[in-house]
Amino acid sequence: MIVDVHAHTPTHRDAVPAEDACVFTSWRTDRPVVTTNSWADFDRAMSAADVTIVFNIAVPDPAAATGIPHDPDRTNDATAEFVANDPARRIGFMSVDPTSPDCIGEAERCREMGLVGVKLGPNYQDFDPLGEPALAFYAYCERNALPILFHQGASPIRAAPLRYTYPLVTDEVAIRFPELRIVMAHMGHPWGKETVATIRKHPHVYADVSSIYLRPWVCYESLLAAVEWGCTNKLLLGSDFPIANTAEAMAGLRGVNKMLEGTALPRVPAELIEQIIHADALGALGLTVGRPVDR
Ligand SMILES: [Zn+2]
Repeated sequence: MIVDVHAHTPTHRDAVPAEDACVFTSWRTDRPVVTTNSWADFDRAMSAADVTIVFNIAVPDPAAATGIPHDPDRTNDATAEFVANDPARRIGFMSVDPTSPDCIGEAERCREMGLVGVKLGPNYQDFDPLGEPALAFYAYCERNALPILFHQGASPIRAAPLRYTYPLVTDEVAIRFPELRIVMAHMGHPWGKETVATIRKHPHVYADVSSIYLRPWVCYESLLAAVEWGCTNKLLLGSDFPIANTAEAMAGLRGVNKMLEGTALPRVPAELIEQIIHADALGALGLTVGRPVDR
């Protein structure tokens, strides 16, 4: 089974009106990235995955903060509706603001809607990942077996401290919450080695490889670090749709050694790349597909 653990909820249920389209030409060198998309666009793009984990990010102005627009009042409802439409192929994560007084109330509401994990981006959401409100929320997630996928690594947001998404901060989260399932997005790019040092020591901390193949050297050195430290079994497939789709993510991983031709540099073994592509992400995170909504 191929599980794509990192995709952003489609922005529109139906076809996107031309005037709504958001297109970024600087995010990739090989094609523009369209961050507006319909449910049908999503299914077409993600057809190489058997199951996809989808989420929005709870920010007041998603288009400005992340480039992926959605109605901020429907951050979680939009995801829940999308998942309910095809629960055998989609798993939904909520996103909440840990500093909001209603954080736990919203999380409870999301669980009732069938959302079974959490996406947080401390940089996008402007909260300290080791602050008291965040720690209290992680405790709630640990108690209720809600995995958290953290944005990790670089972002262009000038006002957001890079420390908020630095992999070694996640090590401190994992030390305090040893039963919490965590996914470190993008292998913490460009801090792949720090991410590897973190995932190898914590049994329940994983990393996804989403988007990293778009920067070939970072991808190579991050994967090679995981090989050398014996923790490729902690890496999960992700595309970061709409930045890339699942087929592109798989092809990008399989092509990681291409640039080494004519060199004696060590290769990332093909069988370990296949291990990542076919990783049992659902088992790792304690998730199942088609889970009925608790009422
Ligand atoms: Zn993402």
